[in-house]
Amino acid sequence: MAGRIPKEFIADLLNKIDIVDVVDSRVPLKKTGSNYVACCPFHNEKSPSFTVSPSKQFYHCFGCGSHGSAISFVMEYDRMEYVEAIEALAAQLGLTVPHENTSSYSKAKTVSPDLYQYLVQAANYYQTQLATATEAQNYLKKRGLSAQIIQRFGLGYAPAGWGNLADQFAVELHPTLEKIGLLIKNKLERYHDRFRERIMYPIRDQRGRVLGFGGRITNSQANADQPKYLNSPETPLFHKGSVLYGLYEAMQSTRDLKRVLVVEGYMDVIALAQYGIPYAVAAMGTAATRQHLERLFRHTSAVIFCFDGDNAGKNAAKRALETVLPLMEEGRQVKFMFLPESHDPDSLIREEGLEAFQVRIDTATGVGEYCFSLLQQDIDMSSMDGRAKFTKLASDLIDTIPVGAFRDLMITELGKRARIGQENLAQLAKTPLSPSEGNKQANGTIKSIRGSDGRPTPMRLAIALLLQHPDLIQLVPHHWQTLPEAMPGSGILHQVINLIREQPTHTTAALLEWWREHPEYNQVSKLAAMPISIPDGGVNAEFEGVLQQLMKLAIDYKIEQLMQKAGGEGLTPSEKQQLQQLIRGMKE
Ligand SMILES: [Zn+2]
Repeated sequence: MAGRIPKEFIADLLNKIDIVDVVDSRVPLKKTGSNYVACCPFHNEKSPSFTVSPSKQFYHCFGCGSHGSAISFVMEYDRMEYVEAIEALAAQLGLTVPHENTSSYSKAKTVSPDLYQYLVQAANYYQTQLATATEAQNYLKKRGLSAQIIQRFGLGYAPAGWGNLADQFAVELHPTLEKIGLLIKNKLERYHDRFRERIMYPIRDQRGRVLGFGGRITNSQANADQPKYLNSPETPLFHKGSVLYGLYEAMQSTRDLKRVLVVEGYMDVIALAQYGIPYAVAAMGTAATRQHLERLFRHTSAVIFCFDGDNAGKNAAKRALETVLPLMEEGRQVKFMFLPESHDPDSLIREEGLEAFQVRIDTATGVGEYCFSLLQQDIDMSSMDGRAKFTKLASDLIDTIPVGAFRDLMITELGKRARIGQENLAQLAKTPLSPSEGNKQANGTIKSIRGSDGRPTPMRLAIALLLQHPDLIQLVPHHWQTLPEAMPGSGILHQVINLIREQPTHTTAALLEWWREHPEYNQVSKLAAMPISIPDGGVNAEFEGVLQQLMKLAIDYKIEQLMQKAGGEGLTPSEKQQLQQLIRGMKE
């Protein structure tokens, strides 16, 4: 992994770049008042509800709710990863992106654009070799692959022999080729080809750059010690945990990826494309990681996992469920499909054809249904014990789902299945579902503090106001008495205050960006975009009022904590005194 990008650099980048330029170069903006508007590039609309604020360095669409900094915009519009977006923006300013704890690994990543070029040369070499490799061609023909599909996926062939590829490059380049996984250095310090007598599958990133290769043996009499499949090792360019085989090809085949099928191997991806399903991708020999899925959701809103019907497939499905639940944000759809035993997608679509396979995709099980049926499998739901166990297991999983409609639905469904009464269910939905929830709140999470009337709580309002109007910091008393840490949201509020005090020129965008890789990012981001209907002149008064409310809440909170302790383990003399003072203070 490349080292983290220092937060100071990102703040500085956002200070130097103007979001108006960034957006305007992609979506022409019109000035209205102090803001700029356009028709939103992220949803269909006729009248503009997409607004860019130069003072906040922030965009917000009132139609679809999308919002964020210049970095978010580039990520969403150019469909880039976080680090890529930062690099693209930095490049515009001629800045080099620094990485913390830079290892030789990440240095290689940032300094050698040539590496890609050598991989392309290798891919071209393998492709030309395929033209004369009879056995390999027969193998592909037997698999029913057309010349067109072979071309689309750039398949090639690595011939027998130890130095074929090595000879294509100058000797000085051999150490570099070793670094990108094409050559291997033996004990005698000599370099030889890693891939020999194999069909070669170039693995590309979503921009079409070759990162590495998968190689499959063709000859049946191959040595027993030769693995059937051989992938490039981890290199500065190729990271198994984040590359999805076939994503680039899928994106090339349709402008708008409505759904993506996640399968196991690259032959599955290619066979499906051959038979009319050009939207399959494969994780490279590993289970789909969070990184894989986050990347996928940037290109599509519907993901269908496809698993073999055997035990390995079932176990893989369970892991996929645990990985995907925390990513179930609004608008995302996930399904699970299981193939008949002893089949993989490659063999099945060959056997039953496109239409039957498509029916399987269309009737795949929704993530919620799969989740519950998995849990219920070994539980006797007719007994109370069974239902209690089920409730515990289910709430642990539901607890990982982000707050939103899907989570609410899952809680309702849990109630139905476990036969929990309306009242208890409301309790379940309102209070932390799992014991770990209490700890999360102590870390400053604020998801549970939606006001009961739907209006923002003082804590949310305070954070939102400060994020949107950082100059309100002047109204925060110097000796601002910190709120108890366990008060939901206090961690975030204190952090916002500290950030603005350290760097008074921070914009909304720069503040928000500080949370980018934190679990609270989504919440903070929503607060940064939260509409606050206060006339401009009234913002100061509103903020002062909210601060006072918070201080009062903090006192209530402390009193409650002390009372609870008094009823339990008892108070120390100084705590008794504190409690008396607090209660006296309230009466005054
Ligand atoms: Zn929109």
